[in-house]
Amino acid sequence: MTSTITPRTPASPAALDLGPARELVCRECGATIPLAPEFACAQCFGPLEVDYEFGPVTRREIEDGPRSIWRYRSLLPVPADVASHPNTDPGMTRLLRADRLAEALGVRKLWVKDDTGNPTHSFKDRVVAVALAAARQLGFEVLACPSTGNLANAVAAAAARAGWESVVLIPASLERAKVLTTAVYDGALIAVNGNYDDVNRLATELACEHEDWAFVNVNVRPYYSEGSKTLGFEVAEQLGWRLPEQIVVPIASGSQLTKVDKGFREFGDLGLVEPSSYRVFGAQASGCSPVSTAYKADRDVVAPVRPDTIARSLAIGAPADGPYVLDTVRRTGGAIEDVTDAEVVEGIRLLARTEGVFAETAGGVTVATARKLLETGRLDPDAETVLLITGDGLKTLDAVQDEVGPSATVAPSAKAVREALGR
Ligand SMILES: *Cc1c(COP(=O)(O)O)cnc(C)c1O
Ligand SMILES: [Zn+2]
Repeated sequence: MTSTITPRTPASPAALDLGPARELVCRECGATIPLAPEFACAQCFGPLEVDYEFGPVTRREIEDGPRSIWRYRSLLPVPADVASHPNTDPGMTRLLRADRLAEALGVRKLWVKDDTGNPTHSFKDRVVAVALAAARQLGFEVLACPSTGNLANAVAAAAARAGWESVVLIPASLERAKVLTTAVYDGALIAVNGNYDDVNRLATELACEHEDWAFVNVNVRPYYSEGSKTLGFEVAEQLGWRLPEQIVVPIASGSQLTKVDKGFREFGDLGLVEPSSYRVFGAQASGCSPVSTAYKADRDVVAPVRPDTIARSLAIGAPADGPYVLDTVRRTGGAIEDVTDAEVVEGIRLLARTEGVFAETAGGVTVATARKLLETGRLDPDAETVLLITGDGLKTLDAVQDEVGPSATVAPSAKAVREALGR
């Protein structure tokens, strides 16, 4: 496969246009390096993050921008003309006022951010679109990833649209729907006999050997993870340029949760919203709850676990951003909770029944966790709350297939229908 791939021609630092991004900074020791496809600090092995020099940004400029995440391009590590290159252009998904779910849960003011509306039906299109745009500037032409499913869809689709090759690594046990919805884009799809953490280790090894592969969540991870800020930006803009009081976010690697918070803070710092206080809550499945476990035990170290849950898109046993999730949740006064697989299915069904939104298992985790946090008095029922619904139920039909079905099967007669309905 390598023979078919053109080697990367790295852009010279002077030619590198990543918009407001200035350098990479280590989240642990603060060391800085020039913008490059690097993810770990050479001094301390800490994770690298994009550091910016933002120009003035106005609400008007954003509102006049494209109806996609590119309306926030002046706050992302992408060039100003990013929208003119082929990409999936995700974002600006619905923020739904969820009054019926609010009533069922016993909370006063509730919103559902419905990210099932992205091009490949999960929030992963946001991070991949930013990774692709940055990788193009960094001189790559191959997009790659280890994935629990949704990332595989997003990478294969974005690469197809850009005319890039893709190399996607998945655990062989992945849901059939997620395998097919990746394979259809016709990139290289490698099923690995192992769990996600095995696949992730393999990807890190391959990223070191194949310098011309942009592994979105490995060697270009600092750029990729910035894409999650757009969830925070959109929620704030769609609420009418203000921050919610509480937000519930599902945790896999934990990147999304920390970046939603970063997005809220940047909007406050730039004067785009009134910097008001908010609390960030984390949601995990009990079958893979390393961050929730650390939170409950009041520990700073997240001990790895072996995942066993139907919420496979969240099944990362060794979450890279776990410690930063703990920091964010503790700093904002939130909490982390986990729910059983049965509660996940109930959460999916409750959201569908009350709001007409069919979420995948990760969405069930968020809804069920919100319910548990309300029941135990940690979410304030009187505070305005946003639930992040990050993926589409059509991808995880297995979760509900034994739970729902036709109300009745009848002969083709009006009488039979009336009888079946008891009216
Ligand atoms: C990947 C994923 C998440 C969590 O992402 P992290 O940033 O790794 O925590 C949440 N929901 C869905 C549907 C996902 O695919
Ligand atoms: Zn460092």
